[in-house]
Amino acid sequence: MTADLTSLTGLDVPTGLYVGGQWGRGRGGATFPVLDPATEESLAEVADASAADAIDAVAAAHDALPGWAATAPRQRAEILRTAFELMTQRSEQFARLMAAENGKSLRDARAEAAYAAEFFRWYAEEAVRIEGTLMRAPSGANRILTLRQPIGVSLLITPWNFPAAMATRKIAPALAAGCSVVLKPAEDTPLTAFAMAALLEEAGVPRGVVNVVATRREGAAGVVAAMMADDRVRKLSFTGSTQVGRILLRQAADSVINCSMELGGNAPFVIFEDADIPAAVEGAMLAKMRNGGEACTAANRFYVHEAVADEFTSEFAARLRALRVGPGLEEGTDLGPLVNQATLDKVSGLVADATGNGGGKIVLGGQAPDRKGYFYDATLIDAVPSDAGILDAEIFGPVAPVVRFTDEADAIRWANDTEYGLVSYVYTRDLARGLRVSEALEAGMVGLNRGLVSDPAAPFGGVKQSGLGREGAGEGLLEYTETKYIATDW
Ligand code: ADP
Repeated sequence: MTADLTSLTGLDVPTGLYVGGQWGRGRGGATFPVLDPATEESLAEVADASAADAIDAVAAAHDALPGWAATAPRQRAEILRTAFELMTQRSEQFARLMAAENGKSLRDARAEAAYAAEFFRWYAEEAVRIEGTLMRAPSGANRILTLRQPIGVSLLITPWNFPAAMATRKIAPALAAGCSVVLKPAEDTPLTAFAMAALLEEAGVPRGVVNVVATRREGAAGVVAAMMADDRVRKLSFTGSTQVGRILLRQAADSVINCSMELGGNAPFVIFEDADIPAAVEGAMLAKMRNGGEACTAANRFYVHEAVADEFTSEFAARLRALRVGPGLEEGTDLGPLVNQATLDKVSGLVADATGNGGGKIVLGGQAPDRKGYFYDATLIDAVPSDAGILDAEIFGPVAPVVRFTDEADAIRWANDTEYGLVSYVYTRDLARGLRVSEALEAGMVGLNRGLVSDPAAPFGGVKQSGLGREGAGEGLLEYTETKYIATDW
């Protein structure tokens, strides 16, 4: 059964490929279904791009590039500003669409719609501030002039967990810089990307500047590899797993494509004995439960000082117990289903492992409720040994393992004992300690007495195997530019 998307969301959602300003079914005319994870029923059949369709999209982006790069920054800014206003007007519709295809609660979806729109506003403001430099050479003989030029056709690959925000976080800076793009959304959530393309067209983005090609899961590798092998593509911005990121970095080597990579995370959440515990519980709810734990920034491991561990776990458990599990689209739902069966299987397996041989004690949850859909209960596991397997894996679900510690040095060592380095969270009332620990943590971002770090005005990104480059802030725009240096004599 196919739900009527328009009546469900209030948006007229396209389901084709968007290439050169045209909606189409692609050369082969193949389609694939997008499922509602709360019902496992089809929401829509969408066009399944082939490698040839993807190359058509690269060609369209390449043709549109010179005109867009030459467009006045003010005009690019006005278009992005219009996109912000349109998205703000339609945030409820976008929220409903994301709740439908991703499964997240309407509350999370509304927050995402607002957050996603902010990237358009922020980069509308940045588009007119792309500066160069002029300096006198040390020898005094000449001048060193630098300017920033658009890097070129940019391939944007996004995951399913934030279908709107991961797209706008890439599209907005690329467009601000004067680049044209091909967006390949995740197979679980292409509808939001299509709706976004329609919105950008309405905002005045010229044909071919934004192109969108979706594929079924099995097609992603071939379609993306074809684009990566096309030397008109000069930039890759990828958000997804470290495993796929490594494959793409290898492909990028062949034509030396500039890469920004936002990969996996394994965020530690460290609570010291001097922390404000109610604030830490509040932060933990955000860091763990926003999006049902399906975020690369999700708190993955709670290191709690022994002196406050009982108080923290009992208050955290009480908050988790009160969460209402249900379909994302149902008003009042706090915790929607996971996105698909594979994610549900993975989360169940990790919990079984942590409580079986792992030695952890289930305080709350620990199972999938007996109902249709990919639901998993909010779960708290206490007394997890510091070497348990669950602490090495990106859980991507509503499961919080707690490890108790007594020594600050142990907490830092354990927190850093991972190949990942995206974000860490620290709770302490002692700001000097907080800053000292923040410096010692191997992460691109730290939430110091904060359970949420994402902000369009801040540089988002990881160290170690969590990624390369930054998104958001001024830095996010520079990722779509090349520096040109002109040695000048006058
Ligand atoms: P997740 O585990 O969050 O699904 P993935 O890294 O698997 O993360 O997916 C992120 C994005 O990468 C999606 O758009 C997906 O279609 C795409 N993708 C998956 N596998 C490949 C691949 N082998 N080559 C290129 N893109 C891929």
